[in-house]
Amino acid sequence: MSEIRCAFCKGTGKDPFDLLSKLATCQVCGGTGKVEVEERAIECVYCKGTGVYPRNGRVTCTVCNGKGMVTVKGATEECSKCKGTGTVIDSGLSCINCGGKGVVVKKEGA
Ligand SMILES: [Zn+2]
Ligand SMILES: [Zn+2]
Ligand SMILES: [Zn+2]
Repeated sequence: MSEIRCAFCKGTGKDPFDLLSKLATCQVCGGTGKVEVEERAIECVYCKGTGVYPRNGRVTCTVCNGKGMVTVKGATEECSKCKGTGTVIDSGLSCINCGGKGVVVKKEGA
């Protein structure tokens, strides 16, 4: 595990959109400004590391849950469906094939 700055609140620990109140704590990090991610973590391509859901700029990214980083296990390769963007061009939704990460785990022996 490694500790990173919470992308959703940019490390402030406060709800960046004041959804509940100005004093509301960030729902992603619980107000600490930091989140833990499992190694190996890469930047979330779907939200471009912002932690914010790109289709509705006030909620957490559904791919990284607001952390701005996603965990990948083992060897990965670019997702052929979304060409590594994590996004379905037509709909703007996260790619189902890679889960929005833009990479997929390499198949054994492929
Ligand atoms: Zn936060
Ligand atoms: Zn994300
Ligand atoms: Zn994909």
